[in-house]
Amino acid sequence: MAQTLDSLLAESRDRLKAAGLESAGLDARHLISGLLDLALAALLTRGREPISDEDAARIRAAVERRAAHEPVYRILGEREFFGLKLKLSKETLEPRPDTEILVDCLIPHARRIASSKGSCRIVDLGTGTGAICLALLAAVLDARGLGTDISEDALATALENARRNGLAERFGTVRSKWFEAVDGRFDIIVSNPPYIRSNVIPELEPEVRYHDPVAALDGGEDGLDAYRAIASHAGRHLETDGVIGLEIGFDQKRAVTALFEAQGFRLLSAAKDLGGNDRVLVFQQDIERSNNR
Ligand code: GLN
Repeated sequence: MAQTLDSLLAESRDRLKAAGLESAGLDARHLISGLLDLALAALLTRGREPISDEDAARIRAAVERRAAHEPVYRILGEREFFGLKLKLSKETLEPRPDTEILVDCLIPHARRIASSKGSCRIVDLGTGTGAICLALLAAVLDARGLGTDISEDALATALENARRNGLAERFGTVRSKWFEAVDGRFDIIVSNPPYIRSNVIPELEPEVRYHDPVAALDGGEDGLDAYRAIASHAGRHLETDGVIGLEIGFDQKRAVTALFEAQGFRLLSAAKDLGGNDRVLVFQQDIERSNNR
């Protein structure tokens, strides 16, 4: 009997269920819709259409990778973030929906600065796929962005993502560990740095531990290494009326705030993620303190 979309969906879901994946049905639908370039809705209406042997073989190979805990979007090689389609590569963290909240928190600042100055310069430290910076550029047409990363693979991916999304003219990259190779001042400094404590890495779910790059996850012994490096140089790179936007771990709000306060910044706003955890902090220069210096 010929294989159909429906029969392959059922086969894939059963295989993923047998592998113990709670999201088996959803994962099967996302994998098949991605591989065949079909909208999710089309899976419902076109279920009786035959699938070629070649497509069936591609689907089965992808399902086996998912059964071995490779994440769906790593297998597909791209994922959507803030309406942009972003390519993933070996040394880039898969963009998370929670990180869209950091973008949401910064858009009003980017718009305010762009409308008062006519432009807004953004630096995204540890840009990875470019997700955060590119989303801000897509939302604010007068903004320009610089993405930094220690990984050449990440910088190439971020540039490719800028091209794919029509943002290449306003986006550049530099290879740098945090601010080390960065010159000049910016209106917005943003980062989703590695913030997981080293001793927690072995406990992460296999999807993260084996498939996201460890350099994008491991924040050192107390998880705060990157924040210390960023805080200690941010004053030299932030315009007077600029802001710093950071993603943080669920239990890091107090510690990260203290690090930035010690360098002359004050917490302007904070936001929680979709699960109700502290996830985003926005700082600005503490004007009173700088005046009293
Ligand atoms: N949010 C990521 C996770 O849960 C961690 C990303 C990071 O360290 N910046 O795995």
